[in-house]
Amino acid sequence: MSTDLTRLSIFEMQAGLRAGAFSCSELLEAHLLRIHALEPRIHAFITLAEESARAEAQKADARLGEARKSDQMDQLPTLLGIPIAVKDLITVKDMRCSCGSNVLGEWIAPFTATAVQRLVDAGAIIIGKTNTDEFAMGSSTETSAFGPTFNPWDTSRVPGGSSGGSAAAVAARMVPAAIGSDTGGSIRQPAAFCGVTGIKPSYGRVSRYGLVAYGSSLDSMGSFTRTAAESALLLGIMAGLDKMDSTSADRPVPNYHKGMSEGVRGLRIGVPREYFIDGIQSEIKTTIKAAIETYRELGAEIVEISLPHTKYALPVYYLIAPAEASANLARYDGVRFGARQSTGSMVEMFFDTRGQGFGPEVKRRIMLGTYALSAGYYDAYYGQAQKVRTLIKQDFEKAFETVDVIACPVTPTTAFKIGEHGDDPLAMYLEDVFTLPANLAGVPGIAYPVGLDSNNLPIGMQLMGKPFQEETLFRAVQAYQSNTKFHLQSANL
Ligand code: GLN
Repeated sequence: MSTDLTRLSIFEMQAGLRAGAFSCSELLEAHLLRIHALEPRIHAFITLAEESARAEAQKADARLGEARKSDQMDQLPTLLGIPIAVKDLITVKDMRCSCGSNVLGEWIAPFTATAVQRLVDAGAIIIGKTNTDEFAMGSSTETSAFGPTFNPWDTSRVPGGSSGGSAAAVAARMVPAAIGSDTGGSIRQPAAFCGVTGIKPSYGRVSRYGLVAYGSSLDSMGSFTRTAAESALLLGIMAGLDKMDSTSADRPVPNYHKGMSEGVRGLRIGVPREYFIDGIQSEIKTTIKAAIETYRELGAEIVEISLPHTKYALPVYYLIAPAEASANLARYDGVRFGARQSTGSMVEMFFDTRGQGFGPEVKRRIMLGTYALSAGYYDAYYGQAQKVRTLIKQDFEKAFETVDVIACPVTPTTAFKIGEHGDDPLAMYLEDVFTLPANLAGVPGIAYPVGLDSNNLPIGMQLMGKPFQEETLFRAVQAYQSNTKFHLQSANL
């Protein structure tokens, strides 16, 4: 076969499979071949599910064959035979789920996350579980107990995190799409570092059932793809009410492709002055400004806005997220969950299981969170943070009275070197300044490539939208991607 199947978009894969140009098994093997060739340099995966994926591909081919014979091709599920990777913080039945931690040992998930199940029901084939910072705490995948993932654009650099494995897998064309989670930036930041399109939907748009909890009031599940059109396709399948998650929204899921190509004429794009602060890489500033100019040329109206409480997002997030994490991670005690350590007393068993199982960043967060929630400090820290969170949310509500979307950088720098923030947790936390506000406010955010810096590293732009108006984000990114070529650039591997 002459075409490299890993270069095709999901839409081209769908068409090729239906036209009989290649089979589901051939499509899968092309991606497995690429994974095997590149994995020693990239390390995007914690677990590969080759055997089950091959079995599913055969079944999908049989289904295709029957549909062809009975002339029912239009009845085939949308994603039939499309290989997809899933962050190892999200459960897939009968596959190991490590959360990038030693504490879970060889835990095998007994059920599949609702959103992933919807993809599987639509025919997708799960090819494996991708690397993540331990319990999604980090911005580089370096806190993974399985070692870091390497950025496909420059393997001396991080791919971002925590969903770095998923972002790198898509950037390296190991899969056309991967699922991730975002509590403070973990989809958008790695998407920016790896030059792919990553969406964090509105809080409640996609069920969290099967997403291992980090900060329950902030966690969202979303995807990495190469284009907005593919992102829209996946969200349409993953989104929607789920009775297993009481915070999932009971709102209809729109057809995200409808109106997606209408362009941005008349769209009001807000540019928040607080997001262009000193200290951000100058090439990021100029590239984002150029992308905003492109929007102006395409007919959008550019409006300067203010989100005055932006500077509080970082301290607020680093109280609320660890507080929620300290409660959520109590279950890894060797009794309910967690590989039990020690033969001593019960208390020793708790100490040993948690002491040996968790890495240093997770312990730091648990201590921070427990402290912020402790009697005597609760009001001063957690209570205060919740009040400021409301102010941040109100900033967005006010801004969205005058604009349709907000455009800004994703990150203050492009991908940094492995080990660069080694002993400095604060430097790592600062990576998230531009992504945390969307989680605190519950609004959707999408990151996509708009240029390269002088080191040939991708620069991402972020658009944030009104709650449950992901369709406006897709329309705006689509307008950009159909007029520019940055999303087609790929790492030279
Ligand atoms: N980097 C942030 C943190 O460490 C966000 C991570 C995430 O979104 N899961 O908490």
